[in-house]
Amino acid sequence: MKRMVRLLKLTLAAMLAAAFFAGCGSFTAPEPSPADPAPSGTASENNADHEANNEPIEEETPPPAPPLPPPTEATLIAIGDIMMHTPQLPGAYDEESGTYDFSNFFVQVRSRLTDADWAFANLETPIAGDERGFRGYPTFNAPAALADAMKDAGIDIVSTANNHTLDQGYNGLAHTLETLRERGLAAIGTADSEEKAEEITFIERNGIKTAFLAYTYGTNGIPVPKDKPYAVSLIEDERIIRQIQLAREEGADVVAVSLHFGNEYQRMPSDEQKRLARLTIESGADLVIGHHPHVVQPYELYRVEEDDGRVREGLIMYSLGNFISNQFGDYKEYGAILEVTFRKTYNEDGTAETKIVSYDAIPTWVHKYVEKGKNRYRVVVLDDLAETGSDVLLSQRMVAQLIQKSEEMNKHLDQYAVEAGAEPAAPPKSETGEDNPSY
Ligand SMILES: [Zn+2]
Repeated sequence: MKRMVRLLKLTLAAMLAAAFFAGCGSFTAPEPSPADPAPSGTASENNADHEANNEPIEEETPPPAPPLPPPTEATLIAIGDIMMHTPQLPGAYDEESGTYDFSNFFVQVRSRLTDADWAFANLETPIAGDERGFRGYPTFNAPAALADAMKDAGIDIVSTANNHTLDQGYNGLAHTLETLRERGLAAIGTADSEEKAEEITFIERNGIKTAFLAYTYGTNGIPVPKDKPYAVSLIEDERIIRQIQLAREEGADVVAVSLHFGNEYQRMPSDEQKRLARLTIESGADLVIGHHPHVVQPYELYRVEEDDGRVREGLIMYSLGNFISNQFGDYKEYGAILEVTFRKTYNEDGTAETKIVSYDAIPTWVHKYVEKGKNRYRVVVLDDLAETGSDVLLSQRMVAQLIQKSEEMNKHLDQYAVEAGAEPAAPPKSETGEDNPSY
C-alpha cells in the first residue's frame, strides 16, 4: 500500500518536473554567447538578433522555481440514518395534490449541508416505486419525494449499503439507484451492474479528490441474488483493503469509507467495530463514517505510524445514530452531524499531502409534533438551539432540557478525545442547572 502511494507521488513529481522544465524553456532559456556555435536554428536566430541590436550579453541566473499552488481546503459533512417509518408518511402527504414532501425533515440542517463541499447521508430505505406501496419497518419502501428532499437539502452522496438494502428485492435496489441518479445524487455501496460495483466514486471539491466507499455487515437475512453478487457491497476485510488501495492508485487525496456496522442500540462501539474501523484507517483511509446502531457512538482520532516514521491521522465516527426516524427513547432520537475539514498542501518536490485539519461532531434531535392533526418531524441541531435559546415550536422548559441534553451528548461524543488528553471537538457548553429531563 505505502509502496504504491510513494510510487504515485514519484510519478506525480516526474510529471510536475517535466511540466516545470517545459514551461521555463519558453521564456527563460539561457542564450548562447556570440562566440559559441549556435546549437539550433532558433538559438541562431536569437543570436543574430543580439548581434544586430548590439545588446550586452548578460549571464543568466537559473530560473526561479515556480510558486507552489496555494493550499486548499474542503469540508465534508455526514449525517446518519435517514429512516422512513410508517408514522412518518401521513404528515408529509398532501391529499389535494396526492404528493409527498419531506423537506420539513431537513429544514434546520439545510444551510449546513448546502454550505458543505460534500454532504453524505445513509439512506436506510429502498425507494422502490409507488406501485409497491409505501411502508416502514420491517421491509421499507419510501416515496421518491424523499430523494427530492435530500437533494434539495444539499446532500450529494448517499450510502445505499445497509441491512434494508434488499427489503424490496434486487428490483427495489435497482429502482433506488435509478431514482437517486436521476436527481444527481451519487450512490455508493450498491450496484446494478458488475462494472459499477468495481467503479470507485470520486468527487473532487477545491482540488481535493475524495473517494467514497460503502459496505454493510449484511442484508437482514435476505440473500444477495446469486447471479448478482455485485449488488451489495458486504463488509469483507480483503475487499475493503483492496478498494482503498485502488482509490489511492487512482489518485484519491482523501478516502472516506462508510461502514454500516455495530450492534443496535449500543452507545459504545463493539470490539469488532474498533478492529474493523482501525484496520480501515491502517489500510489507507482517512475517514470512517459509521452507522447502524440507531444511537450515537463517540468518534476517535486514530493515529497510524507509517514505515517511514510519519504519523498519519484518520478519523473514525463509530455511529452517527439516527438522523430522522420514528424511534424514540433510550437516545434513539439523537443523532450527530460530523463535520471534517481537509487541507491539501503542495511540497517543493511536487508531491501533495491532504490532512484533516479540523473536525466536529454536533448532536441533533428528532422533533415529532402534531400539526393540523398529523405527525410532523424535523431535525433540530442542538448546538444551534443552545445558541439561540428559543424555538417557535418548543416551550422554554423544553429548550432548557434540550440544551442540557446537548451538553450530555457532546460529552458522550467527545469522550475518547478527552481520554486521550486532546481537546474535545466541541467545547463543553455552560451549565444550565436544569434537572435531568424526561420526555
Ligand atoms: Zn441498519
